[in-house]
Amino acid sequence: MICELCGKTIMGKPYRIYVEGAYMTVCESCAKYGKPADSVNPPREKHVDKAKKTSQDIPEYEIVDNYGQIIRGIREGMGLTQEKFGIKCGVKPSLLAKIEQQKIIPDYQTIRKLETSLKIKLTRPSA
Ligand SMILES: [Zn+2]
Repeated sequence: MICELCGKTIMGKPYRIYVEGAYMTVCESCAKYGKPADSVNPPREKHVDKAKKTSQDIPEYEIVDNYGQIIRGIREGMGLTQEKFGIKCGVKPSLLAKIEQQKIIPDYQTIRKLETSLKIKLTRPSA
């Protein structure tokens, strides 16, 4: 086995260390240049996991056809104005008005806010 830092044949026990973002197998005299691999979490792999998780948070979806009617129906059933209802859901009343009229399609975060506060489903998995 050859030391990945100095290139010499490792005579004794090889050391697994972490140096500047990479794992290396090195000889005893080079081991001091890095941290023991066991004590370090690989930041690169962690980053990949995080990126993967983010993309899973937003699934493929389609908003239901009559989302405006559904939202307005629930709001009116609660006897709330768009303003009060918007505050309850964390959605701006001006935005809510456009959503109810289906002038705009809300983004995913807004949909989630409405779904969570109203305990309804406004999306379906996209085919
Ligand atoms: Zn070495």
